[in-house]
Formats: sequence, structure tokens, C-alpha cells
Amino acid sequence: MNNKQKIHDKLLELVKKDNVKVDELLKNHLYTKLGGRADFFITPTSFEEIQKVVKFSNEENIPFMLLGNGSNLIIKDGGIRGIIISLKQLNDISTDGTTVVAQSGARIIDASRHALNEKLSGLEFACGIPGTVGGALYMNAGAYGGEIKDVLDYAYVIDKHGELVKRLASDLELDYRTSNIEKNKDIVIEATFSLKPAKYEDIKEVMDDLTYKRESKQPLEYPSCGSVFKRPPGYFAGKLIQDSQLQGTTIGGAEVSTKHAGFIVNKNNATTSDYISLIEHVQKTVKEKFGVDLEREVRIIGEDLSS
Ligand SMILES: Cc1cc2nc3c(=O)[nH]c(=O)nc-3n(C[C@H](O)[C@H](O)[C@H](O)COP(=O)(O)OP(=O)(O)OC[C@H]3O[C@@H](n4cnc5c(N)ncnc54)[C@H](O)[C@@H]3O)c2cc1C
Repeated sequence: MNNKQKIHDKLLELVKKDNVKVDELLKNHLYTKLGGRADFFITPTSFEEIQKVVKFSNEENIPFMLLGNGSNLIIKDGGIRGIIISLKQLNDISTDGTTVVAQSGARIIDASRHALNEKLSGLEFACGIPGTVGGALYMNAGAYGGEIKDVLDYAYVIDKHGELVKRLASDLELDYRTSNIEKNKDIVIEATFSLKPAKYEDIKEVMDDLTYKRESKQPLEYPSCGSVFKRPPGYFAGKLIQDSQLQGTTIGGAEVSTKHAGFIVNKNNATTSDYISLIEHVQKTVKEKFGVDLEREVRIIGEDLSS
């Protein structure tokens, strides 16, 4: 089946009608405010709907990808062929003793606030990370000395065959801004975090301190995808970029932030090409000056406009 109308009709059978969109503009779903259109954009309201879509995609060989909050993604101007599955409607968060259980579309910031209200410590580091729980597991998101790996107990995923499977944290090969979720083609459905009882005031103090640090150092007033590069062993990406005098450099509407050298901001209606060209310029300049390869943290996907 490669006919767009037939795929659309089938998706309408699998997912509620209002939650299936065709030729959806992705820039509206991404933190960078960049990106072309997706052939199909669906927002399931149950895990069973996701399972059905995965099985259908496998049978018909239609590519699909997951979208959390779009805070670590750059999608090219030519967009995405196939199906984008947005998990935003699956966002329940609950407590069971000293564990917090969060569905994959819940914001990790909300899981962190939920833990605060339950007087549970461990998720303070995540109080300003703008991703979903699923995206945070995928990236092993972290900040200020904490990371998902420290607190994740286990997760439920839909595996590549469409089956619901429990994965222990140790199964996910969580490491610095990486996991095996992409390699295994897992879809994170729900995560269980193991936390420790603590005083509300103590947790709140840590979160307030981290929020102050983040707001004073990051250019949160502009669209961006956060830190573009991973920390190279023995260096700090931001310091290398700063010492290369790259802050304030622009290509089209994209700029190396003057506030935080590790960020590239969409300052003036940038295209994805502007963004990618600037990322490559930064990598080339830092390599020439310091001999260090900057590996991207942010994912770049999709098709070029011309193809
Ligand atoms: C201003 C700003 C500050 C940031 N600060 C930090 C920080 O301090 N620390 C940090 O680690 N990151 C930071 N980030 C980056 C980003 O927020 C994290 O990487 C976050 O974990 C991405 O989550 P997301 O839901 O936005 O994922 P998306 O960008 O939507 O997706 C990222 C990848 O995860 C996959 N994915 C998403 N959900 C699932 C799922 N349920 N199952 C399987 N795969 C899935 C997607 O397919 C994609 O490949 C920052 C970003 C911004 C814009």
C-alpha cells in the first residue's frame, strides 16, 4: 500500500478521527520552530492505538517515528515521509509509595514537580529540561550532575514487533546522552522512577537554585534545541566555541547565542539549512582551532527541500 489516501483511511480506522492529520507543518511542534511537513501526524490517546499503528506500519512498510516535545530535534525543510506519532496526549503521572510512574508523553518537568509535591527527591535535576519522559529516556537527559540513569527503575516499551515489554533501566544501556532505545526500535510507553523521601523545602530549594542558574545562563527568550553539542571528553563544548570567538556568528536567521555559546538560537526566521550550516561551521572552526571534534547532541532528521 503506497497510496496516501489509503494510508489515511486506514489510520482513521486505527486512531480517533480528530487525531490524524495530513501534511502537518512540523515547525509548530518543535522547539527550534523549524521544519517541513510530515505526511501523517497522529496523536494516539491509548497505548493500544500505538500498537495498532506500529503493526500496520510494519505490515505495509511505512516508516514512522516518535515525537515527544520536539526539544532535541531539527527536522529538515523537506519534512518527513511516513507517520509521526506524537505522544503528548499520554501524559498521566502518579505515585506508588516512593516511586513516580509517568507516561511517556508527560513532560519531565511535570514529573519533577509531581515528585516535589509528593516530597520525593531524585528528579530535581530535571526541573528545567523541556522534554517528555519518553524523550528524556531516549537521550538519558541530565543536568547539573543528575541524569535519568540515576533514578529510572524500569520502563514499559512497545517493541519493534508491536508487543508490550518491560525493560529494566540496566537493559537500556543508558549513558551520556544516549540509550539503546533507537537501536532496538523501542517506543517508551511509561517509566517508573525510584525516589527517596525528603522534606518539601529541601527539594524546592534545589529546584529553585537550578531554575535560577538555567534562566540566568540560557537564552530561553529565543527558540532553540538547547545544547547543540555533547561534552567532548576533557573539554566543555561551550568554552571551545567561546574561545573560537564564534558567539554572535550568524548564518541566515540562526545565531550562535551570545548568552550561552553551546546554544544556537533561531533569532530571525531561520531555515533548517541556516541552522545546519551554522552547526557545521562551528564544528569546522573548533576542529581547526583546537583539534577537537564536536559531536552533535541534537538529532537532525528528515529530507532536504530539493529532494
Ligand atoms: C532550552 C532547552 C534546554 C535544554 N536543556 C537540557 C538539559 O539540561 N539536559 C538535557 O539532557 N537536555 C536538554 N535539552 C534537550 C531536550 O530537552 C532533551 O534531550 C529531552 O530529553 C528531549 O525530549 P523530547 O520529548 O523533546 O524529545 P524529542 O525532541 O521530541 O525527540 C528526541 C528523540 O527521542 C525520540 N523519542 C521521543 N519520545 C520517545 C518515546 N516515547 N519512545 C521512543 N523514542 C522517543 C524521538 O523519536 C527523537 O529521536 C534542552 C532543550 C532545550 C530546547
